[in-house]
Amino acid sequence: MTKWFSGLACIPLLFMNAASCMAQAPASPIVLHVDLTDAPRRLLHAHMQIPVNAGPLTLQYPQWIPGDHRPTGPVDNLSGLKVRANGHDLSWRRDDVDMYAFHVDVPSGVTTLEVSLDFLATPGDTGSDEDQATSPNLTVLEWNSVVLYPAHIPVAQIPITASLTVPADWKLGTALRITGQNGPETSFATISVGQLVDSPVITGRYFREFPLASEINPKHFLDVAGDAAEDVDLKPEYLAAVNQLVRETGPLYQSRHYETYHFLLSLSDVIREEGLEHHQSSDNGIEKKGITDPNLAMLNAELLPHEFTHSWNGKYRRPAGLATPDFATPQKGELLWVYEGMTQYWGNVLAARSGFWTPAHYREALAWSAARLNVKPGRTWRNLEDTAIASQILRGGHGYWANWRRGQDYYPEGELIWLDADTTIRQLTHNKKSLNDFCVKFLAVGGNTPPTVVPYDFDDIVAGLNEVAPYDWRGFLTERIRSNVPHAPLAGIEHGGYRLAYGAEPTEYEQAYLTKMQEVDAWFSLGLMVNNGSTIDDVRVDSPAFQAGLGPGMRLVAVNGHGYNGDAFKAAIRGAKGTASPIELIVSNDNEFRTVRLDYHGGEEYPQLERVQGTPDLLDEIIKPLVAGKASGL
Ligand SMILES: [Zn+2]
Repeated sequence: MTKWFSGLACIPLLFMNAASCMAQAPASPIVLHVDLTDAPRRLLHAHMQIPVNAGPLTLQYPQWIPGDHRPTGPVDNLSGLKVRANGHDLSWRRDDVDMYAFHVDVPSGVTTLEVSLDFLATPGDTGSDEDQATSPNLTVLEWNSVVLYPAHIPVAQIPITASLTVPADWKLGTALRITGQNGPETSFATISVGQLVDSPVITGRYFREFPLASEINPKHFLDVAGDAAEDVDLKPEYLAAVNQLVRETGPLYQSRHYETYHFLLSLSDVIREEGLEHHQSSDNGIEKKGITDPNLAMLNAELLPHEFTHSWNGKYRRPAGLATPDFATPQKGELLWVYEGMTQYWGNVLAARSGFWTPAHYREALAWSAARLNVKPGRTWRNLEDTAIASQILRGGHGYWANWRRGQDYYPEGELIWLDADTTIRQLTHNKKSLNDFCVKFLAVGGNTPPTVVPYDFDDIVAGLNEVAPYDWRGFLTERIRSNVPHAPLAGIEHGGYRLAYGAEPTEYEQAYLTKMQEVDAWFSLGLMVNNGSTIDDVRVDSPAFQAGLGPGMRLVAVNGHGYNGDAFKAAIRGAKGTASPIELIVSNDNEFRTVRLDYHGGEEYPQLERVQGTPDLLDEIIKPLVAGKASGL
């Protein structure tokens, strides 16, 4: 039975035990004003009036930012903190253990604290996405970087009234309800601290807002900011795909859990790339040419579909371990293979259905991720579920030995599991049902709602799948998330009428990736990825390169007696195919040099999906649009 909690105010009921020490929510709102007039020099100013009672008080800076899957709150960039009351400075003391907590003794008779702080929008050390979200021409304001709130109160119960001043000629876009406009200052309706942190603002000198799919309610918008006027003139094919995306989610999810939805899109080589989901908006950051360059557009195709899908899967339906009452409570990531894995599946399907990708690009992207998972030795010691539980230490991990450590495989391997589930349902029901039916039961429970969190656990997933097609779903899922078998679950691809194969040339999708990352792929042949011209990015454990003693960080100096370059390296792999001659490399490890001979004769190997003739072409069926009017590929 699915647990149902209607309304944000009900969420704290989930945490009766954990919240037993929770303080009482303030009756009047925090008043927050943020001043971005210094944003072009990467300095954000905030001032708060916080209603308080006399006595000890702890102010909390957000640490566990929803969607970051690790404690990234950029507290190292919080500066200039001043606390005042009745015109006098009050001293504060940071907690000795919790770097995000600030203790204040509120004198008797004081009912309001005046708190001011600056946020340094400069590179920091917490892994935050907010500290590099401003350029001379634009800012993406995630409010968690500029807010403090009273600790031990569920953030859904703390009211806050925010306003924002932007540089004189900047415009803004947000899902927040605007209540007033006074020159460069915008006032927003009172909401909870939880909702405010969930509702970023994009603002910039070069800004455009595009209404989307006007026949659909609630209303959708694309708000784009860039570093030059021409960057925000989006091409019609791209806008057509975003419009189609909104339409395609209608039959797929059959519900909407927002009052309006804003895709916030930054196109910039100055600020960070980003993808962060929210209930009523998403923070999407790609390169300046991330849409106009066809190769970058192909690589970015699933970003908007993925983050939009999270409004249903992740924000509305959320694993209980991630539905925490505040930003200080640690999150438990064990079900991220649902939160992110199913979102990865539908995000990629929607990218194809909406026309961001051609069907071939969809298959090429699937082949690329499936192949890498299929030869990832780390899966023999760390199961998929552990990559989810350990998300907070895997996110942002180094590439060296990443195939042995594993990374956030709950995304791409989650996609394979949900493709497997989709094709299994179609087989079990003779194509009468699909994972779409599960989506309707699971993501549309309660019908259309305002932003609300409906938590779930593993049993809810099993029960929901059984309602669609009775099967041993508990065994199906458990086997896939807890297995240490050496290969990835590829049954969904095979049920779909394809098999993973290898060709002598990279696919268009893979070549676009290799060009962007400036890498040479010898992963499926020698077991090497080489970047920055000559440095080994990683060595696949048990590959020919591994057996020869190579390791990440070493440099390839020469290939077959000539100075290294990527083309010569690839030519050497091709040249050794079918011969008895080894590939001879001179390799440096710091200042030690040695010659390595690799007896590999299989030639270049690049993954692709190969059609298995005579089997149902389910994969292509899955990515067909549900709504007429799509373009195919950008
Ligand atoms: Zn995601």
